[in-house]
Amino acid sequence: MSNKNEIVTAHTLLQCNSCKEQSKRKFSDGDYVFKEISKCSSCDGQVIIIKIFGESLTQ
Ligand SMILES: [Zn+2]
Repeated sequence: MSNKNEIVTAHTLLQCNSCKEQSKRKFSDGDYVFKEISKCSSCDGQVIIIKIFGESLTQ
């Protein structure tokens, strides 16, 4: 048991399959790995989810 007030928040890592630009956002319902999200903002590639992970924030 820990006395720290630790909050683990799920995040989603996105990557363009063309220019490989990555971005991170908060996980939202329905997210899964390899889901197609949108077109890339810097090129015309397809952005997909490559990873879903938990990140802990200690307050
Ligand atoms: Zn791109």
